[in-house]
Amino acid sequence: MQLNHPQLLRHQALIDGEWRDGDSGAREAVINPATGEILAEVAQVSAAQTRFAIDAAALALAPWRALTGKQRAALLQQWARLISEHQEDLARLLTAEQGKSLAEARGEIAYANSFIEWFAEEGKRVEGSILQSPQARQRLLVLKQPIGVTAAITPWNFPAAMITRKVAPALAAGCTMIVKPAEQTPLTALALAQLALQAGIPRGVLQVVTGPAADVGRVLCASPVVRKLSFTGSTEVGRLLMAQCAPTVKKLSLELGGNAPVIVFDDADLDAAVAGIMASKFRNSGQTCVCANRIYVQRGIYPALVARLITEVGALRVGNGMAEGTTQGPLIDADAVGKVRSHIDDALSQGATLLAGGKPHALGGTFFEPTLVGDVTSRMRFAREETFGPVAPLFPFGDEAEAIAMANDTKFGLAAYVFTRDAARQWRVPEALEYGMVGINTGLISNEVAPFGGVKQSGLGREGSRFGIDEYLEMKYLCVDIA
Ligand code: ADP
Repeated sequence: MQLNHPQLLRHQALIDGEWRDGDSGAREAVINPATGEILAEVAQVSAAQTRFAIDAAALALAPWRALTGKQRAALLQQWARLISEHQEDLARLLTAEQGKSLAEARGEIAYANSFIEWFAEEGKRVEGSILQSPQARQRLLVLKQPIGVTAAITPWNFPAAMITRKVAPALAAGCTMIVKPAEQTPLTALALAQLALQAGIPRGVLQVVTGPAADVGRVLCASPVVRKLSFTGSTEVGRLLMAQCAPTVKKLSLELGGNAPVIVFDDADLDAAVAGIMASKFRNSGQTCVCANRIYVQRGIYPALVARLITEVGALRVGNGMAEGTTQGPLIDADAVGKVRSHIDDALSQGATLLAGGKPHALGGTFFEPTLVGDVTSRMRFAREETFGPVAPLFPFGDEAEAIAMANDTKFGLAAYVFTRDAARQWRVPEALEYGMVGINTGLISNEVAPFGGVKQSGLGREGSRFGIDEYLEMKYLCVDIA
């Protein structure tokens, strides 16, 4: 792969400030999902090496937390500057290992960097409180202090942003962090770590351990030294990690599965609804946890919306993300294609209508045709499971109450979207939706200023925003008797 700075292509883990192979010499191939090409063979660290990384993070903690917020901000800002300077290389690495189009990859690097820039500043604003005491001779204070050593386990769909959204608040707050990136996409994580080293972030403050997920995860969860785990991924793995963290009563942030509903009312602005659905559904080929997964369309607007969506879906360009003009890269792997196919087959066998696409793309591999399915009902798997692929299922509905009930009829509660021009409904419906985030007349809601996270089985905690740093801080209450 052609990079302007080949030193960004790392294949070893970053432990205690040094690039290291796994003890056993084991390596795991990273595959380009667009071509099947092996991009690198990445070191697989052992459980013992993971323990060593925890020790290094603990050693690095005292001097790191002793810096002022402003001093840590200066280092984070230097990291952000280097990421910005190397945006093109990072985007190419990201596209090569993940598959998304280069335009989306460049966007993700900028989005990832926005968390570093934001939290560098927020770190300066960590403030305690002075409380009014019920006793005249007491003074009550609340301090906020870094939690300590933390760990992050991240997914493959946003190989850069899911890392910085955790690392930036952790480091800004004065915590140290060990990251275990997804096995499909470690190269972006390692390149970011290389730039953190170049920026002067001290050894042990940020480490990246690549290795067998279950083994590394077990060590991170079991360690009493690791005080907090932040995980983004599937609900199944989230539940397992929660159980593994129970013995040490670890703090947890979990950003899990989505199953996002979109509700389009008859009174919606059709252009806005079409744009919102296309952006939310087909970004990253449908592989985001806030992707539209169930599109509820009121019967009056249904025919017009279907016609417009058929045109829009027809204009999408499937191909290698590196190629100019590609809008839809490949899916991450064959399992992802299998799930998409099974959801489509299930719906069609129960009376749904295929409106566009519906099968693997002629390019082969894991490329899949952008697909529209109509007349979907709540009996079908589309209603219950996250498809995580480029398929838009359209569910016709009658009235508002029915739409809200169907939208809430899931164990998930991450993002929802509502399209309506009725001002009262713009409040009423979002307030009734059991979701952590609601887009109103928009399909794009993620940014560094907003608190990202879900309710129900979509997770715990919030990332980004001024609230996001609290996930890495403990309150300490001081009671002073001044008599
Ligand atoms: P996805 O289905 O999107 O791949 P996963 O939840 O399987 O989501 O993966 C998200 C992250 O969790 C990845 O970094 C993966 O390696 C990690 N992971 C998967 N299984 C485990 C496990 N048993 N323990 C710890 N981490 C795991």
